[in-house]
Amino acid sequence: MSERILNPDLGFVKDVINAGGESLKKCYQCATCSVVCNVSPDDSPFPRKEMVQAQWGLKEDLFRNPDIWLCHQCSDCTAYCPRGAKPGEVLNAVRKVSIAEFSAPKFLADIVNKPAALIPLLAAPLVILLVWSHLLNMGSAAAAVYGSSFIASGQFKFIDPLFGAAAVFAVVMLARGVSKYWNAMSAGLPVAGPKMELGQAIGETIRDILGHERFKKCEVTKARSTAHMLVLYSFIGLLVTTLLALTKMIPEYFALNWSTAFVEGLVSAYKIIGAVSGVILIIGILLVMSNRAKNAPKAGMGSYYDWLFISLVAGLGITGLFTELLRLANTPIAYGMYVAHLMLVFFLFAYAPYSKMAHMFYRATAMVFARMTGRM
Ligand code: SF4
Ligand code: SF4
Repeated sequence: MSERILNPDLGFVKDVINAGGESLKKCYQCATCSVVCNVSPDDSPFPRKEMVQAQWGLKEDLFRNPDIWLCHQCSDCTAYCPRGAKPGEVLNAVRKVSIAEFSAPKFLADIVNKPAALIPLLAAPLVILLVWSHLLNMGSAAAAVYGSSFIASGQFKFIDPLFGAAAVFAVVMLARGVSKYWNAMSAGLPVAGPKMELGQAIGETIRDILGHERFKKCEVTKARSTAHMLVLYSFIGLLVTTLLALTKMIPEYFALNWSTAFVEGLVSAYKIIGAVSGVILIIGILLVMSNRAKNAPKAGMGSYYDWLFISLVAGLGITGLFTELLRLANTPIAYGMYVAHLMLVFFLFAYAPYSKMAHMFYRATAMVFARMTGRM
């Protein structure tokens, strides 16, 4: 029998505790959690083994483990744990620490998830907008903050280069983090002779995510999957809105004449799709909040890391809706509301590689990997 020398990392244990896994040490390995989890495979089920790995500080085992992301944080296990060790919350904390581990620069992950940094992080896009408007000679700082000067002067030239740069940064950093995670999983369990081809695994994962097939298996917090699904579909709708808006703006900006009746018809739909998606987003995120509050006695209320993401999404939907309504009412307050909306958009997307927003990319990657290795 081969022997393995364990290499516990006490700093990692502390990180997990600080990330919301403070109940970690209460676990006495009864395995109730693995039995009640409907999402876990029968063979080597989670989360019991992850609890002991986290208690012992075996961070490499956890970082290369697809199972930490196959968990959907439905909290069935937390509700049934006889010791109040909250395994669902501990796994969430492990995921948070693993995002920080794979992201670069690492200090940004620490800052984004610190409550004390919230105001400076929110203010950062405003400061950038002010400096940018000053550099472009676009009128007074007050007019820029109020939103009127940059909207009047054509936001494509003013805002989109800034937000485009932030989006490119986020995509590059996310791709880097996710590929490091893939390499870590491969080091633990090489995809030699895959059980499923990559294309098929991606296709099945997309179907699974769109139908929330795994999430629906959870019992204690059943309503969570409906609320989560509404938020997911609203994000897809808002992505389509952005792409259609770009289809309209790019020819205007470059003075191209490639507009056809079909393109114009498509483009005119973007406001309707955007408005409907915005309303679905607000309904979905309010349901997420009410589900969390309702299930708090059984599943816990969640950490700052969860609530930062939930609040940002709620703020994004509410400021977007009010901007639209105030514009329809033809009041200049709409500009100020729009600036607030832009600050939240910037926060959500520019810091995405370091916040809970990254969960969708890491979880989808783990699901593809798990299919290819026969784990799912
Ligand atoms: S987390 Fe709770 S349910 Fe799971 S093994 Fe530990 S004590 Fe048992
Ligand atoms: S939170 Fe839900 S999915 Fe995750 S381990 Fe617990 S029961 Fe399973």
